[in-house]
Amino acid sequence: MTFNPDHQQILIENARLRQQLDTLMAQLRDNEVTLRALQRLELEVLNCTHLGDLLRRLLITSPRTLELYASGLLLIPPAVEIAALLESGDCPAGVVIGLPEEWPRTMYHRITLDHYQPHHRIVFPLGRPPETVALLPLWRGDVQLGWYALGGASQRFTPDQGTDFLERLAMVVSTCLDNAINHVRLEQMALSDPLTGLDNRRAFDRRLTAKVAQAERYAYRFTGLLLDIDHFKRINDTYGHPFGDRVLVAVAQALTQVLRTGDVVARIGGEEFALLFDETHPEAVANTAERLRQAIIAAGAELNTEGLTVTASLGVAYRRPSETGESLLARADAALYQAKLRGRNQVVFAPEPEPHSP
Ligand code: GH3
Ligand code: MG
Ligand code: MG
Repeated sequence: MTFNPDHQQILIENARLRQQLDTLMAQLRDNEVTLRALQRLELEVLNCTHLGDLLRRLLITSPRTLELYASGLLLIPPAVEIAALLESGDCPAGVVIGLPEEWPRTMYHRITLDHYQPHHRIVFPLGRPPETVALLPLWRGDVQLGWYALGGASQRFTPDQGTDFLERLAMVVSTCLDNAINHVRLEQMALSDPLTGLDNRRAFDRRLTAKVAQAERYAYRFTGLLLDIDHFKRINDTYGHPFGDRVLVAVAQALTQVLRTGDVVARIGGEEFALLFDETHPEAVANTAERLRQAIIAAGAELNTEGLTVTASLGVAYRRPSETGESLLARADAALYQAKLRGRNQVVFAPEPEPHSP
């Protein structure tokens, strides 16, 4: 066979093309893997209706699915208020709430791929810092909810990369976050009394159930108190319904001020309130109930209205071991009824059980 330079050239060219093709194929496979992982994450995220679940997906599951070092979420108002309302166990570590001063907000209005900078620590508060980051601003219309931050190895997010996949991910995460936030808002609305802002009956029932379960588990006692404004119909009839509403708001505020945070204060009926507190020492409870009674009179006086006196009757019951919430309320209600019978504007305690005879 004779040496043919053209033939040799073709072989070299061929090998080069083959190598290029291999590189392209490898890139394609890489892209496909990334795309699949992103799609998987999208589906996981789309399946979340509860904010707590969604946050856990974004912060715990997604770094695994996308093979990242870490992910972080920075939430700013109005999203931040909602996250703060989550039960503490529901907000996973790694959610940063509120905009820190050193965060260059305006720099990150668009998706940014960057090498890790010290201020990125804000969005990756836990664990080892990543080498490169992708910052995805989360927008719903004109309102920014915050940023979703992804952190990976040195070549993971470089400024020359396309951001199509990430644009899409940002859109999906924004939509899901907004949905979940609306869900929490609706839940809040369904659980709070619009006039006074206190828990409503439904919320109270939930809290009572939770408190009974907790008291059983940790063997502690708590007190239930029902309170009903005296002759409220008369107040409405004399001063009008809107004024009656003002009285209810004033009473609600007075009750909240007397109790400690963590105690439960709910409006469970028109002019009926239910309270739960951990105090069970008879003297301390009597003292709290008396302070509540007087706080209502003071709140009425502060309305500065000729001829108006606002008073309430209170029924108090200490929860007995193994007692259901229902039974506790029934006993507090019976005590309240007694307070009404005895002339109103007073506190009556449900009788303590007879000691068992040996
Ligand atoms: P008592 O001392 O026996 O409790 O007498 P009362 O007049 O307070 O009790 P009653 O149950 O007869 O009247 C309760 C009134 O509360 C009747 C109702 O019109 C009024 N009410 C219920 N909900 C609201 C509300 O949201 N706003 C106002 N202004 N009044 C309300
Ligand atoms: Mg009533
Ligand atoms: Mg009443």
